[in-house]
Amino acid sequence: EPHTLPETMTAVRAHRTGGPDVLTPETVPVPSPGEGEALIRVAATGVNFIETYQRSGAYPVEFPAVLGTEASGVVVALGPGDHAVSVGDRVTTASARGAYAEYCLAPSSHLIPVPDGLELELACAASLQGLTAHYLITSVARVEPGQWVLVHAGAGGVGQVAIQLLARLGARVISTASTPEKRELASAAGAEHSIGYEGFADTVRTLTDGRGVSAVLDGVGRATFDDSLRSLDRRGTLALFGAASGPVPPVDPQALNKAGSVTLCRPSLPDFLADPEERRWRAEEVFGPLATGELRVEYSAYPLAEAAAAHTALEGRATTGKTVLTP
Ligand code: NDP
Repeated sequence: EPHTLPETMTAVRAHRTGGPDVLTPETVPVPSPGEGEALIRVAATGVNFIETYQRSGAYPVEFPAVLGTEASGVVVALGPGDHAVSVGDRVTTASARGAYAEYCLAPSSHLIPVPDGLELELACAASLQGLTAHYLITSVARVEPGQWVLVHAGAGGVGQVAIQLLARLGARVISTASTPEKRELASAAGAEHSIGYEGFADTVRTLTDGRGVSAVLDGVGRATFDDSLRSLDRRGTLALFGAASGPVPPVDPQALNKAGSVTLCRPSLPDFLADPEERRWRAEEVFGPLATGELRVEYSAYPLAEAAAAHTALEGRATTGKTVLTP
């Protein structure tokens, strides 16, 4: 049925860098889609570390800024040009602009259809972290059945999905997490061993009979990097995909030699979604099992206007699973 677009909407805007309190709900015009763009009525917005970096000034953005690149919702208008989607389609995307809002824009070529029967909120909760876990396992670490893999922050958004996908593949998972409750979640997701961060490289050696793991998925960064290298088996892969504890200082290539001819990759999601065929494949492998309940994604939802509280929780290490905002 036709959707009458309002002229204004609520968006969470920041006018300067700072703490979570710079994120304030304001009334702003509903944006109109440009060439190749879709306007989406937002059902859920994903909260990601990148927005905390943009808000604090670690990653520069132009102010005033409506942050947010991840959203699910319904297409309500299309800009000029050809589109693979239609008004009324249920979609999710990790390529939105200004997603901390009731309406946001995204290139229509970067919209992923949400299968019937899959809730939009859940699809959003699973998008960015699910697709990230998928590309890390299939295309960066290229994990094979039977291999040992170390997943840091196993109760986190990427962590819980990565552990489940690895277990489905037949890999053997060791996970780190900071509290007993978080370690329970990592074990429930399928980790064979859930351990604390303290001395994890030595624990990993012991658990793997001295060999080390074939791959480490490390989104923690500075605090874990050195020991992640030390946890690898010969010719293993360190997938350094984030910096929740801060950025890793410059690395001497010789350190990779010393660690046993290992590979270091610092990947980012857009490079693994650029090809439409590849994007479809990854989406199918995440949303297929999500729709049937074989893949479970835990998330907490905050009202859009409380985006600041969501940032405080994410930065304060207080979340498990994914965090989303709902208008
Ligand atoms: P998480 O849900 O995993 O939250 C981060 C977790 O990191 C925390 O819950 C915490 O778990 C752990 N952590 C360790 N040290 C700290 C610290 N000092 N401050 C805060 N958290 C800490 O987040 P996401 O799943 O959303 O993202 C994980 C990482 O992946 C982030 O760094 C993010 O930027 C990155 N990312 C990268 C992508 C890419 O393509 N490169 C795409 C998506 C995300 P615990 O308490 O158990 O240690």
